[in-house]
Amino acid sequence: MTIRRVAVAGAGIVGLSTAWFLQDRGVAVTVVDRTGVATDATDPTGRERASWGNAGWLAPALTLPLPEPSVLKYGLRAMFDPSSPVYVPPTLDPKLIRFLADFARHCTTRHQMAALEAFAQVNRVALGAYDDLADGGVAEQTRDADPFLAAFTAETDRDRLLEEFDHVQATGGEVDYEVLDAEAVHSLEPLLSDKVRAGVRIRGQRFIDPPRFVASLADAVRARGGEILTGFDVTEVRDPGNGVVDVISTNGDNVSVDAVVLATGAHLNALAHDFGVRTLVQAGRGYSFSVVPDELPKNPVYFPVQRVACTPLHDRFRIAGMMEFRNPDAPLDPRRIRAIVDTTRPLLRDVDWDDRSEAWVGSRPCTADGLPLIGGTRSPRVFVAGGHGMWGVAHGPLTGRLLAGAVTGHTDPVLRHFDPLR
Ligand SMILES: Cc1cc2nc3c(=O)[nH]c(=O)nc-3n(C[C@H](O)[C@H](O)[C@H](O)COP(=O)(O)OP(=O)(O)OC[C@H]3O[C@@H](n4cnc5c(N)ncnc54)[C@H](O)[C@@H]3O)c2cc1C
Repeated sequence: MTIRRVAVAGAGIVGLSTAWFLQDRGVAVTVVDRTGVATDATDPTGRERASWGNAGWLAPALTLPLPEPSVLKYGLRAMFDPSSPVYVPPTLDPKLIRFLADFARHCTTRHQMAALEAFAQVNRVALGAYDDLADGGVAEQTRDADPFLAAFTAETDRDRLLEEFDHVQATGGEVDYEVLDAEAVHSLEPLLSDKVRAGVRIRGQRFIDPPRFVASLADAVRARGGEILTGFDVTEVRDPGNGVVDVISTNGDNVSVDAVVLATGAHLNALAHDFGVRTLVQAGRGYSFSVVPDELPKNPVYFPVQRVACTPLHDRFRIAGMMEFRNPDAPLDPRRIRAIVDTTRPLLRDVDWDDRSEAWVGSRPCTADGLPLIGGTRSPRVFVAGGHGMWGVAHGPLTGRLLAGAVTGHTDPVLRHFDPLR
């Protein structure tokens, strides 16, 4: 089967990366998205995707599957408290109940170790896919995070992160880190307040400015001859078995191609279900906003206990957090932004917390087993790329590279862990 023309549904980091790597393999691409492309920070339609407002960390040391025994313990305690960093609104939604039950079932040490092993294999090569994009002309660069700091108010809080690093190393992952006392951590990041008493410096991590990166990737796809159709809300993908797949929009537009890649983030199930994909993709909604401190930090800061991620974009400091299992289309809940402010305010100095901009909510596309869905479906012409949860930015370009291989008949064995039909 020769694949010359592919449609990619979804212009987030995963869809655009897949389009770019397909082009590398000589395939003509049309990317369709129901909203716009995140060309700049003021484009409200482009913001709807998770790939716009995230923390932008390319941090293999922290890129770990979400279900694990302690998340379950913590989650059950905190779940129904709106100010908690993990929140589930009281619900009778059968899809959400099924997801939570399945998620809980995967919070075992045995599953965690198996998932960590799978992650170790992809984490090792994930940054290399970003280097491919840079070598191939994507203008916006990744930045080295040196230092990449995790900060704690007590030394005892640090032990949990170090324990996670032990698990990573035991399952073949790589983590290069140094434990810091209060003086050392403050000398590396002056913005930290006196409440911070301990830290960890993690080496070999990077980060991006997400809106700029996604816009730059879209530019590169267009410059290589790709078409990006915005305002194209896919309602149906039809494979009648005659060698052509039809991608049909709500207003009746039709793109006919040799194959289609579904990369629709938290909305993946709607289109993938008809092709045998039964794994639920649930929105794990996160929030972010920006502040401009007196002195803009040069590197990310992570507060693991508070589950808050801070990242310097080019001219502002993005603060991100929260995991809210909820309908992806529900409006932004200002209580979550306030909760992030309240928990982070004591930890950073010289920030005017009332002078915030870019308040944003977006959906991490979460699977109950914490593993993404990358590969083929029941139809030989329909492929899936999504479900990356907390780590679609770190794994997006690698996913694109792997899936472009699979679409053109070169399936990497690592994809067995991420089979969309599991
Ligand atoms: C607060 C927060 C912080 C995060 N920080 C990080 C981080 O530091 N590092 C990291 O690796 N990850 C991070 N993530 C996770 C990451 O943002 C996501 O995993 C990733 O962006 C998912 O990318 P995607 O392309 O699959 O989905 P999206 O970016 O959501 O893109 C999906 C696209 O599909 C389109 N679409 C949906 N349905 C249709 C349809 N029917 N027809 C046409 N188009 C459709 C949508 O409009 C959207 O543009 C974070 C997430 C959040 C919320």
